[in-house]
Amino acid sequence: MADEKELRYDPATIEPKWQKRWAADPKFYAAEPATSGKPKYYVLEMLPYPSGQLHMGHVRNYSIGDALARHMWMRGYNVLHPMGWDAFGLPAENAALKNHTPPREWTLSNIAGMKRQFERLGMGFDWATEVTTCLPDYYRWNQWFFLRMYERGLAYRKKSKVNWCPECATVLANEQVIDGCCWRHEGTMVEQRDLVQWFFRITAYAQELLDGLDKLDGWPEKVRTMQRNWIGRSEGTEVDFFLEQDAGPSTPSAAANSAQDDSAVRIRVFTTRVDTIFGATSVQLAPQHALVAQFTNANQELKVQVDELLNQQKKAREAGDLGAIEKHGVPTGRFAVNPYNGQRVPIWVANYILADYGTGAIMSVPAHDERDFEFAIKYDLPIVQVIHPEDKTLAVVLPFVSKEGLLVNSGEYNGLSCTEAQVKLQEVAAAEKFGEAKVTFRLKDWGVSRQRYWGTPIPMIHCERDGLVQVPDDQLPVLLPEQIEITQQGGSPLSRVPDFLNTTCPKCGGPAKRETDTMDTFVDSSWYFYRYTDAKNSREPFSSAVAQYWFPIDQYIGGVEHAILHLIYSRFWTKVMRDLGLIVNDEPARRLFTQGMVIKDGAKMSKSKGNVVSPDDMVARYGADATRMYALFAAPPDRDLDWQEDGVAGVSRFLGRVWRLAVKYAPVARAGRGQQAETPSGTSLRLLRKLHQTIAKITLEFEGRWHFNTCVAAIMELVNDLQAADAELAAGEVSAPVVYELLRSLVLLLAPLAPYLAAELWEELGEDGSVLRAPWPKSDPGLAKEDELEIPVQINGKLVTVVRVAADADAKAIEAAALGDEKVQSRIANKTVVKMIVVPGKLVNLVVK
Ligand SMILES: [Zn+2]
Ligand SMILES: [Zn+2]
Repeated sequence: MADEKELRYDPATIEPKWQKRWAADPKFYAAEPATSGKPKYYVLEMLPYPSGQLHMGHVRNYSIGDALARHMWMRGYNVLHPMGWDAFGLPAENAALKNHTPPREWTLSNIAGMKRQFERLGMGFDWATEVTTCLPDYYRWNQWFFLRMYERGLAYRKKSKVNWCPECATVLANEQVIDGCCWRHEGTMVEQRDLVQWFFRITAYAQELLDGLDKLDGWPEKVRTMQRNWIGRSEGTEVDFFLEQDAGPSTPSAAANSAQDDSAVRIRVFTTRVDTIFGATSVQLAPQHALVAQFTNANQELKVQVDELLNQQKKAREAGDLGAIEKHGVPTGRFAVNPYNGQRVPIWVANYILADYGTGAIMSVPAHDERDFEFAIKYDLPIVQVIHPEDKTLAVVLPFVSKEGLLVNSGEYNGLSCTEAQVKLQEVAAAEKFGEAKVTFRLKDWGVSRQRYWGTPIPMIHCERDGLVQVPDDQLPVLLPEQIEITQQGGSPLSRVPDFLNTTCPKCGGPAKRETDTMDTFVDSSWYFYRYTDAKNSREPFSSAVAQYWFPIDQYIGGVEHAILHLIYSRFWTKVMRDLGLIVNDEPARRLFTQGMVIKDGAKMSKSKGNVVSPDDMVARYGADATRMYALFAAPPDRDLDWQEDGVAGVSRFLGRVWRLAVKYAPVARAGRGQQAETPSGTSLRLLRKLHQTIAKITLEFEGRWHFNTCVAAIMELVNDLQAADAELAAGEVSAPVVYELLRSLVLLLAPLAPYLAAELWEELGEDGSVLRAPWPKSDPGLAKEDELEIPVQINGKLVTVVRVAADADAKAIEAAALGDEKVQSRIANKTVVKMIVVPGKLVNLVVK
């Protein structure tokens, strides 16, 4: 008889034992080469930032990916399941400032600690392909890609307004500004500053990035919608109004003359409704528009007014609510000429016109646009209706914004539909060279310059004679200097390191200076998953042949907070690499899964909220298996999970029951191994049926639905049934070969969810090899099939009883069973059955009067 101790489930003994064994075998989780002959499966979870501690959000993310990877290994796939570190970034500099630890040291020691946590949790990563983005063997390829992009005009410099977070003391990408505040510092308003910055021309791929979304049917619809909105395509027309040369009195013919004058200054406006252009009663410029500066130079009073508009816009931008800005404008006293009809209209400057949308200038058509209408009423500008509903008898309330209508008051275009007029007017503009059809995007080029130390140095050199010069490939990587004083003030820290800053021009050999900006850390995460396929390559970023075997990623898993930034940048990077001839896939990942957050006490777990549960504590108290399995069990993976420690304890108790059951009957199972089972009946049949139903259910979930919570629940049910049959099992009523199949399959089903316990029990059952490479069990449909079903019976829509019928019973047999039931008979006595609805296999409803 087994002693007490052996019957106690003790993860603190089991788990480290297997952890050691797995760590001793580097091939255990390693991907095989393309020649393995197996189908490939690339499962990837987003790589963590090495903050020093895994949090429960990580545990959830990686438990999902690890369960999937293990399942696919058992299904016979060649699985690539790598892990790495998104290791550049500001927190390392903050820590350096606080603790006087160099960023590199701080980062690498955090990585070592988190790697220990991953190993303790039993995550099946192939550490041979580990990628650490802050090390030169990785970031040299960031530099290499930068140079390829520079050569193709995809990396360029321009002076631009940048978002400046005073707290970070650095430039933020537009996407890092949330409601006017820094994405890291919720309460810090972002300021606008002028700086020369490096950009990646992501807009060159705007249309392709948009079109590609239609094909990504393995991505959540919400992510695709977010990306579509972010790219923000709108179709319209650019039209030149002509600046009237003198401010003196003018007639339409004089205006038309000045329009024909080649030297006329053009004011290009963007509109999505060129069909309404005969209704334009003013042209409105953004306060930053170049012409405005020209007007204010000669007009001090105007300058003061424009500055006030600028100020209002800046405040609204900082408050993150540009859309709700109270609209103000000032007339410039100047006029513009409508190129279609020679009509002169006043030029205004308005605070709600944005310099970086379209051309920074619009035509205002109050009769057919809400915003323009509001503005015209406020400033008493003329309102001219030029579109009328097709039914001329209809009264029109202005503004009339529908495109279902015909043109009026529009000269030779009268009577055309809005769509016809747009085409016609665009043709005229193109022919007369004062405009063209134009598609604009909300998507802006990706600002990649950071005035930071802890990032990839941009591999460019400034020479007084030659200007901007590329660092030659054979001088890569441009190494980050190790010894540096971090102050987080002023400009780039690298500009204060003479050994780094001063260099020789590769072209003329004369003295030159290095670029001191570093790259946005989103660069690092844009292509890291390609490097995993060939992480040790020192000649190229990765082998094209190897990448072609693994890509696209079969399943990518991460938080929905990365739906826009990371996932648009990495799609862009993939297209650039394709155009460089490195890969053949257009998109990085075939399927994407975004898991929900981990919540505690009603809020997302975070240090600032003080509601963090440490994975280490949970593992110490309940074991890694229970912690991981709880993370899968407590909610469907796409929903938020409300962390309850009681729940972890419950899963731990359940695993204890599995342990005791398996250990108790392992000797019987071992005896039954290799024996032929006779045709099952009675308890054996009942238990085998439950087993095969469970296998079918869990297999289906792994194939795409991923409700791992129901997988765990199904295993719990199976274990309940086994425990309920303890007397029969103990009495030997279930034959040894059946006990063997039951326990062996139970262990196989547990393997992706509780890998340590599964490995231990596999050994306990006397099985050879690793459970991780054992074939996933197959459900036998014959065994899984119920011979009887329970059918609910309702009377007038109310549940009255449940009847048992043969699983293949037809409507007539079910009807008979329902009417023969005692409860039903007593309810329908003295009444009339008006109608009887039978849904075979599902339900009976009697309508009774
Ligand atoms: Zn900040
Ligand atoms: Zn030079």
